[in-house]
Amino acid sequence: METDTITAISTPMGEGAIAIVRLSGPQAVSIAGDLFRGKDLNEVDSHTMHYGKIIDPDTGETAEEVMVSVMRAPKTFTREDIVEINCHGGLVSVNRVLEIVLASGGRLAEPGEFTKRAFLNGRIDLSQAEAVMDLIRAKTDRAMNVALKQMDGRLSNLIQQLRQKLLETLAHVEVNIDYPEYDDVEEMSHEMMEQKTKEVHEEVSNLLQTARQGKILREGLGTAIIGRPNVGKSSLMNTLVHENKAIVTEVPGTTRDVIEEYVNVRGVPLRLIDTAGIRETEDIVERIGVERSRQVLEEADLILLVLNYGDELNDDDKQLFEALRDMNIIVIVNKMDLEPKLDIDQVKEFAGDNPVISTSLIHEKGVDQLENAIADTFFEGELDAGDMTYVSNVRHVQLLKQAKQALEDAQNGMEMGVPLDMVQIDVTRTWEILGEIIGDTVHESLIDQLFSQFCLGK
Ligand code: GDP
Ligand code: ZN
Repeated sequence: METDTITAISTPMGEGAIAIVRLSGPQAVSIAGDLFRGKDLNEVDSHTMHYGKIIDPDTGETAEEVMVSVMRAPKTFTREDIVEINCHGGLVSVNRVLEIVLASGGRLAEPGEFTKRAFLNGRIDLSQAEAVMDLIRAKTDRAMNVALKQMDGRLSNLIQQLRQKLLETLAHVEVNIDYPEYDDVEEMSHEMMEQKTKEVHEEVSNLLQTARQGKILREGLGTAIIGRPNVGKSSLMNTLVHENKAIVTEVPGTTRDVIEEYVNVRGVPLRLIDTAGIRETEDIVERIGVERSRQVLEEADLILLVLNYGDELNDDDKQLFEALRDMNIIVIVNKMDLEPKLDIDQVKEFAGDNPVISTSLIHEKGVDQLENAIADTFFEGELDAGDMTYVSNVRHVQLLKQAKQALEDAQNGMEMGVPLDMVQIDVTRTWEILGEIIGDTVHESLIDQLFSQFCLGK
């Protein structure tokens, strides 16, 4: 079946004055060439850019002034011919060009279809393809870095190393099973198997630990601001939103149309929960009742509990502390400019291990410390996204969990004295599961790989 030529507006990240219509497929150059008045695109060198005009074939009139890049297969993102039409007239202009391209034989690309082609044509592996999707949805620069790293093949490399380790171990054990006449061989194989599965298990566990952070980087740290009426919740919300880049997204498919707001605090994307609710009624607890609010709170990754320095701790506050036990909270003592009535020592006692930050939001005091505290709860133990390989993809997390389980099965088997060729089955399964992460075909037989690598003495 002939591959068709897809097209879409692929405006670069961030708002630019230039918008791009991209074509990919065997007809990309000829479709663009027919519409372009300037050099003959069919004749130009690959990876060159040309100034000219897009002509509306219906009227023969000039539609737009453009710059057109021609990139021929296979050295392109999709490994197909790609043409990019750069329009500088903004949205109206780029839409017009897209319409003309569609009318001239291009098919509108589905979301992610360019990336899908890159994967199908072997340009990138599955985890890289997924990273591109994440990139499109990345909410903050830091999240974007993680996606970029993954696209770079960082996760793939790590997974490949782990698989290689398992493969070598299996190969050695295989050799030993083939030559059982050497009697210390059994003992050696056993030790090696134990050692290597332990190492891989450790690495897989580490990767899984990054999953929480990865999820947060992608989806935002679900954050609820709570406290009695009039303590400064709205003020806090406004401070966070105004000091930081806020991204507002609508979440469709929810019973009421919740507006989610994202703010970027030191690279940590906060997803402020139920902000509309707080704004409308000033008090989430009052509005939905203690029971329901407990439910909302349970979905939060982080609670900002606001207290008033100018007021004593009362039963409502204590009830809130009680409801928030075992949760990740930051206590904010606001209105530090007022006459003290709050017993800070008592607050610290209630707060336990959680940080207590003093602010005077009306005077913009203490906001830096608060933002540090927020960043600290996320980057516990000096985690630096720059040096980490994050797992942020649900499918990867599921597969890693399965791999971990298979490794534990292998380890338990060895402890119980199960014969090594049985243990091999679990290790082989681990190798296959890890392969699914990078989209390496599961059907490619392990034995073929073993032979290609070691020839097993034949
Ligand atoms: P909410 O009901 O918890 O959302 O509280 P608001 O943010 O609406 O604030 C209630 C009142 O407290 C407003 O009049 C604010 O201007 C005021 N307020 C907020 N922060 C401070 C502060 O640090 N010091 C003082 N003195 N007043 C504040
Ligand atoms: Zn308010």
